[in-house]
Amino acid sequence: MAKLLKKGQMKPGTIAEAGSMSRLNTGTWRTYCPVTDLEKCTHCMICWLLCPDSAVQIEAGKKVGTNLQYCKGCGICATECPVDAIEIKLESEMSEQERKGYPAREFW
Ligand code: SF4
Ligand code: SF4
Repeated sequence: MAKLLKKGQMKPGTIAEAGSMSRLNTGTWRTYCPVTDLEKCTHCMICWLLCPDSAVQIEAGKKVGTNLQYCKGCGICATECPVDAIEIKLESEMSEQERKGYPAREFW
């Protein structure tokens, strides 16, 4: 498990252009990935609200996964989830089951 910053330790950041994240696919450099336990998730949408890359996938008002085309593995979602439903794992150690439902990445 990666060592995460605690609340209040993260520095504010910016993006160059509002709405530009949909065009910025993550390359092969990502090291960590969020894995959500959807049984534990209360669908509060906090991770959706705070994800800087709009990578949290929602369907019919419920979280259904994470779009790895856009997720940068920053860990904000795991730090802020109030019920600790998100674990940050080394991407190289994710199981096929944990990848299930994620869109295939062109880079893999
Ligand atoms: S790790 Fe970062 S980029 Fe990926 S879903 Fe969580 S908040 Fe978004
Ligand atoms: S912050 Fe946690 S409980 Fe809330 S929607 Fe995200 S994973 Fe589910």
